Amino acid sequence: MANKAAIGQDALIEKGWWKSHQWLVWRRLSQLSVLALFLLGPWFGVWVIKGNIASSLILDTVPLTDPYLLIQVLLTRHLPETTAVLGAVIVLGFYLLVGGRVYCSWVCPVNMATDFAAWLRRRFGITSAARLSRNTRFWLLGLTLAMALVTGTLAWELINPVTAVYRGLVFGMGLGWTVLLAIFLFDFVIANRGWCGHLCPVGAFYSLIGRVSAVRVSAIRREQCNDCMDCFIVCPEPQVIRPALKGSDETSPVIRDGACTNCGRCVDICSKDVFQFGLRNSGKMNSQVANHQREVLS
Ligand code: SF4
Ligand code: SF4
Repeated sequence: MANKAAIGQDALIEKGWWKSHQWLVWRRLSQLSVLALFLLGPWFGVWVIKGNIASSLILDTVPLTDPYLLIQVLLTRHLPETTAVLGAVIVLGFYLLVGGRVYCSWVCPVNMATDFAAWLRRRFGITSAARLSRNTRFWLLGLTLAMALVTGTLAWELINPVTAVYRGLVFGMGLGWTVLLAIFLFDFVIANRGWCGHLCPVGAFYSLIGRVSAVRVSAIRREQCNDCMDCFIVCPEPQVIRPALKGSDETSPVIRDGACTNCGRCVDICSKDVFQFGLRNSGKMNSQVANHQREVLS
């Protein structure tokens, strides 16, 4: 097992700072840029995008709707507007391409707080862990949909922490900050990756899209793995790595599990460059090409 204080040191030494942090930097820029776009309107009167993270309109033209929200609307037996349906199709198509939980690691502002909590836990060696099943989030997802069906209202959206945090950050509502702090403390003190990795129904919904999405991380050079475990330690969903990294020669090196957030931290942190982004169905072929290249070079 790797020394927790030295996680990422090998990658830093062998690849340099940029190559061992680049996906993390791009991700933070993406999250902050999305937030900034939403802030431009209320703060400076520049309305590039109107609405919120669940339903918005870009330049008064392109609608974006969270498909999870649209499903709830349908379950309330209300007819959604055509633009809302179109917005959901656009968003769904985007995440089917780039990876369902890209929403989590590249867009959702809560992720910055939960990543920070996980980093602090590693830093201070906090190992307390409430016993939660990672499947709890799917039960909660089902519960939120049942709430819409039974009550005929978007009851979940009133308390959805993700939209509450967004409202808090963009419109300065106190509840959003309280929710964000509660999630941070829950992850920091009670359960490692407790909220995003175990409870959040939004992440659960997007992980279902991730099960079929095109862009995936692949352990394409898995033969190079030196078992340092750094990728397992930094990964928010470490259970997704093993089948791809430690599978037999016959199994695909592609991480197909929808829970993978395509965050790219494993790509950054691996000093042996085992991981890289690719397409869902190209992993095996690429692995064979990588093997062939290695044989030629050796
Ligand atoms: S799991 Fe939920 S809170 Fe966490 S990043 Fe994904 S949508 Fe945001
Ligand atoms: S496997 Fe890699 S890309 Fe997927 S969630 Fe883990 S660290 Fe992120």
